[in-house]
Amino acid sequence: MDAPVVIVGAGPVGLMLAGELRLGGAGVRVLERLAEPSGESRASTLNARTMEIFDQRGLVERLGGPPPNDMRGHFGGIPLDLSGTPTPYPGQWKLPQPRTEELLGEWASGLGAEVRRGVRVRALRPGPDHVEVEADGPGGPTTVRASYVVGCDGEESTVRRLGGFAFPGRDARRELLRADVAGVDVPDRRFERHPEGLAIAARRPDGATRVMVHAFGRRARERTAAPGFDEVVEVWKRVVGEDLSGGTPLWVNAFGDTARQAERYRAGRVLLAGDAAHRQMPVGGLAVNLGLQDAVNLGWKLAAVATGRAPEELLDTYHEERHAAGRRTLAAIGAQTEVLLGGPETGALRTVLAELVGMPRVRGRLAASAGGLDVRYGTGSDGPPPLGAHIPPGALGGAGAAALRAGRGVLLHPDGAAGPVVHDRVETVRGSVDGAPVLVRPDGHAAYVGGDADGLGAAARRWFGGPV
Ligand SMILES: Cc1cc2nc3c(=O)[nH]c(=O)nc-3n(C[C@H](O)[C@H](O)[C@H](O)COP(=O)(O)OP(=O)(O)OC[C@H]3O[C@@H](n4cnc5c(N)ncnc54)[C@H](O)[C@@H]3O)c2cc1C
Repeated sequence: MDAPVVIVGAGPVGLMLAGELRLGGAGVRVLERLAEPSGESRASTLNARTMEIFDQRGLVERLGGPPPNDMRGHFGGIPLDLSGTPTPYPGQWKLPQPRTEELLGEWASGLGAEVRRGVRVRALRPGPDHVEVEADGPGGPTTVRASYVVGCDGEESTVRRLGGFAFPGRDARRELLRADVAGVDVPDRRFERHPEGLAIAARRPDGATRVMVHAFGRRARERTAAPGFDEVVEVWKRVVGEDLSGGTPLWVNAFGDTARQAERYRAGRVLLAGDAAHRQMPVGGLAVNLGLQDAVNLGWKLAAVATGRAPEELLDTYHEERHAAGRRTLAAIGAQTEVLLGGPETGALRTVLAELVGMPRVRGRLAASAGGLDVRYGTGSDGPPPLGAHIPPGALGGAGAAALRAGRGVLLHPDGAAGPVVHDRVETVRGSVDGAPVLVRPDGHAAYVGGDADGLGAAARRWFGGPV
């Protein structure tokens, strides 16, 4: 093999996955069609669970500490206070996508991932024990032989098409127009509703203003290219009444409420993650976070399989766990889109929802969902808490955090190092959750709760494979 794992796409998800695979000991080559990162501002917020994951991997430290934070979340534009959520990282953390990609790229390369730029993948040829990846690179056509290929190549994924993945759902019906504009002076607006539509404006530290606008009832356009600035100017004028035409557009785009999800995240030796696996409106900053959390679920499993430590069936748990998590997130996004982009006819619904969001239990539930903190994997939801749920970084102690940072599992046990040794990839450290021992997977989720030696051993073998 040229590389045990080939990742197509060096966006945030591909780079996160590359680092995770290296932590798990697998060789990885990332093929990216762009010669240089695009630098487009796109996603700008990390949610609480992504920040916990970044903390687990030492990435918050690499950033020089947490980025700026905003406790003001929203549910479809209805204010949602994110403070008080049970996590060390409540709120929305402001990190422009180019900075996220730079951080993850440096981390993955430092761990030994090979990132090749200017290489566009155009064909896949699956064999019995490998996949051949054909691409056009700077030196002409090239073929790479890999054990596994992961498509992290975004919403128009080539890997999804070549791999024959069904991608059911629906196309955009409505859209938000967006422009980063220099040289305009308009007041900041947070989900301001006008009779004709919805307007958002935020002045950035560099002086440019990001405006977003939707005219109620205006259908999404069929687009093969970004909209012109004149379209944004026209719709803004119609909705808000202000004239933006004197400004200089820095970046203009439109995003619609497309909602699609791959039927399977795995087809043999080909897998999908991030926007390649699910396409959604990036409302509430959920899109990039969902993809990063796919990568962290897949990385350690694929590393274990690609290095021969675990059987292939382990990869099916990636589909089961992340498809379910994606389905829930897409439903949450769908509900928010109705509330956000619905016209005056949604007024009564918004009034009732705003009242409900004010109730502590409802607020807590929605804040946990916005933070990606409410995911419980697999049969976990039937077992004793916190089975299947994430274990916040603080519960692991110094030794547990160090083990997780290295991509190893952790057994939190009241006896500490004197507790049972369950697997050579699991560190036993002092700790417990509500007094019970907990086996923690490399992605920070609880794989077993309780001290039963047989149960612990079986869970360790299930998730970490047989002894090397
Ligand atoms: C215009 C736009 C605006 C957005 N705004 C927001 C926002 O405000 N908030 C938010 O949360 N999210 C936003 N998103 C979504 C967010 O950017 C994505 O969720 C996130 O980038 C997904 O990461 P990814 O790594 O899965 O895919 P991507 O970031 O799309 O990365 C895919 C990579 O694959 C590469 N690639 C594609 N095809 C090939 C090929 N054949 N061979 C080799 N390489 C290939 C691409 O060049 C790209 O670098 C926006 C997305 C877009 C497109």
